[in-house]
Amino acid sequence: MERICRQEIGYKVENSKINMNFLKKLFNKSKIQTGANNSILRQKAKEVEKITPAVLDIVKKITEIIGENRYQTPGLINIGLAASQISQSLRIIAFREWPAQNIIVLINPRITRQSKNRIVMEESCLSLPGIVVLVERAARTTVQGLDINGRKIEIRAKGFLARMIQHEIDHLDGILITDYA
Ligand SMILES: [Zn+2]
Repeated sequence: MERICRQEIGYKVENSKINMNFLKKLFNKSKIQTGANNSILRQKAKEVEKITPAVLDIVKKITEIIGENRYQTPGLINIGLAASQISQSLRIIAFREWPAQNIIVLINPRITRQSKNRIVMEESCLSLPGIVVLVERAARTTVQGLDINGRKIEIRAKGFLARMIQHEIDHLDGILITDYA
């Protein structure tokens, strides 16, 4: 039997204001796919069948981007990235939780439970520079997937983390925040 490691992660965010000037500077230098009509971003990403060195290389690139110093800036407190945003149409997402700053990687993530309680909040996306959209999402979400060692993990998330997970999984299905506008 596979052991499922359960984590309860969640936090309150005191300042969710996004520093747009900072974001714009960031986009100019990034290797991230942008644009609401970008065909890579609009693809449905494929399941990862086996965690190969090539898959780990994609994971490394994603975590390098979200771990970069230029993202460790007040005003940009939470960050997530899907493989499709770096031109790899595979079901891999990663996010950095604030304030813990751990980077969590999920391969083949699947939402298994969501609260009926939904919250509307402003969201932005590294692939849509300068755009902020009000998005309604489940307040709590449970997600299952694999870690980089292929072990099954389950995360029960609330708050911003729940929102980030739903946002990144949307990317894997070709959905962008502008679709909610
Ligand atoms: Zn995004």
